Formats: sequence, C-alpha cells, structure tokens
Amino acid sequence: MKRDLRGMTLPEVAEALKTMGQPAFRAKQLYTWLHKGAGYEDMTNIPKTLREALTTEYDLYRPTPVRRQESARDGTIKYLWQLADGNCVETVLMRYHYGNTVCISSEVGCRMGCAFCASTIGGLVRRLEPHEMLDEVLFTQLDSGLEISHIVLMGIGEPLDNFDKVMRFLELVNSPEGMNISMRHISLSTCGLVPKIDALAERKLQLTLSVSLHAPNDEIRNRIMPVNQAYDVETLLSACRRYYAATSRRISFEYAMIDGVNDSADNAKELLRRLKGLPAHVNLIPLNRVEESPLVPSTKAAVERFQKILEDGGVSATVRRTLGGDIDASCGQLRRKYTQQKG
Ligand code: SAH
Repeated sequence: MKRDLRGMTLPEVAEALKTMGQPAFRAKQLYTWLHKGAGYEDMTNIPKTLREALTTEYDLYRPTPVRRQESARDGTIKYLWQLADGNCVETVLMRYHYGNTVCISSEVGCRMGCAFCASTIGGLVRRLEPHEMLDEVLFTQLDSGLEISHIVLMGIGEPLDNFDKVMRFLELVNSPEGMNISMRHISLSTCGLVPKIDALAERKLQLTLSVSLHAPNDEIRNRIMPVNQAYDVETLLSACRRYYAATSRRISFEYAMIDGVNDSADNAKELLRRLKGLPAHVNLIPLNRVEESPLVPSTKAAVERFQKILEDGGVSATVRRTLGGDIDASCGQLRRKYTQQKG
C-alpha cells in the first residue's frame, strides 16, 4: 500500500522530496497545494516530471460526497464521504455565530457500545488515517464554500481509541502552512478512556477536552456506557482533575438527557457534588432519538430543572441547541441508513 501524501507532515514531505533530488523550496509549495485539496493536475508550478514521480510513489485520494443533506431550518449540512476503500463516514457542518464548525468522525464505526448511540451499533470497522480526518475538514470547506474555523471531534468513533492518528491529524490541521486551525478552536470528545486522557494531558495542547459523562454515578453510567466498567466515574473524574492540573484548560462535560434514566433532581444534585472543585462546564444535550434504542429524550421541564440545579450550585451549564434535526444530523444515523440501503 502506498502512503497518502496528504498524511505527511511538512518535514516528512521535505525529506521525501530531498531523496527525490528536489530543491528545498518545493516542499512548502507542494504542502500548500496538498492542504488546499489540490490534485496533481492543479499543481501548475510544480514540474510535470516531479508530479509523475509522486504519482508512482504516493497516493493522493480525494473523498467523494455520496450524500449531502442541507437543513432547511438552520443551514446545517451533513456529508457522507466515501473513503478510498469504499467505507463511509459522516461530517457535519454547523453554522454558529462564532464561526463555521465542522464535526468530524475519527473511526468507521465504534467499539465503545454506548446504549444511546447509533455509531456503535455495527461495531468498529476500522480507524481513520490522519489524512482522512483532514480530508473531512478540507473537502467540507471546499464543497460548501464556507470557511471552517472550528473543529469538534464528536462524529463517529472514539478519538482516544485512535490516539496516534488523531494526534497526527491535529498536527496537520493546525500547521501554519496548512489549514492553520488554532488548537483553541478544536474540541475533542471522549467517552472516558483514562490512560489516554493522561497521555493527552502530557502533550499540553490548548484544545478543549469534552468528556461524555452522561451520569452522576456508576450505577447509572454502567447501564448506559460499558466503558464505565473499565474506568468508573471516580477514576474518570480524577483523570479530569489531573488533566486540568496539567493544562489549565477547563473541561467540558457532555450530559445527554434521557427520560427517567439520568434526569432527576437528585441526579443533578449528585452531579453537582461530584464536580465540586473541578473547573467545568456542563453541556446538557436532549437525547437524539435513535430508531434501534428504546431510550427517549427528557422533557423540556426536566432539562430546565437540571440546568437550574447545576447553575444554582455554581457549575455553568448550557442546554445545547439541536441543529439539523430534520436531516438525521446526529451521529451515525446517516451512515447506518446508507449502508442498510446498499444492503
Ligand atoms: N466517542 C466520543 C465522541 C463521539 S460522540 C465520545 O463518546 O465522546 C459525541 C457526543 O454525542 C458524545 O457525548 C456522545 O455520548 C453523544 N451522543 C451519542 N449518541 C447520542 C444521542 N443519541 N443523543 C445525544 N447525544 C449522543
């Protein structure tokens, strides 16, 4: 299998070109083209002989959008991208007042098994390569014509279960000669793989860590998130405290509100106690219904009560506005429907 050129860092591209006998300035030239999504035919200031040599040495795949759905309500666009091996992943472009945000997938499928999530139903097919994640951002920007300023790793897959490749993707997308997206504009969401949270803390990146907590205690979390059997709530929150100590970055907790499961006033009070002393923000997300699951979203009143208890107790909490409700924008649903149709 050939290496994909877009997955290489600038120093790697420079090294490769050097061994091909090229002058040093070519590396930046080529890297800039690659990160604009260009194909060889576009690279007019690069000698044809070199382009031909690159074609034989490296892959340069550009994903194709097999589905594109735009919300009539809020302009959210959902893409289903087909990768080189025929697998598909979802990317969602959301338009917020602070900038266009792309929600990308990090794996084809997922092996974490959360009870409420559509992405995990078929299990993990494979992990994404760094350039495939970069391509989600790049080609969503090119196709939509909308400049992307923010990235959330909250699509299909568990990014910390694909740690090294996600780290390389971050390096690529953050590079000044590439898309140059600031770490402060990137959020990474995890279901709570504790050793990987510690590994991430060591890198001291300025990104925002989002932790999918969804429950105030082990009894409830064990029921909806199998990962809790490996790393329970206290173990997870301890890792979050270490993460904060290492990075000084406030942690964001995701909390999907599920009717009768995790949304009582007592649940809110318990969550408040457990988050005490940890600089945190809680994102309350009304559960998105998933066809295959019996779980249903909390009522508006329950969500508001929950939020008020947290806020009154001094923990900042927002209710996430749902975008793209009319286009199956919650993760995994579009890919699932598409693969089912194809049989
Ligand atoms: N694997 C990572 C990131 C992918 S999911 C993680 O677990 O954090 C992004 C967020 O959407 C997570 O907080 C996840 O728990 C949540 N989520 C998944 N299915 C959902 C649903 N049906 N309704 C609301 N939130 C959901």
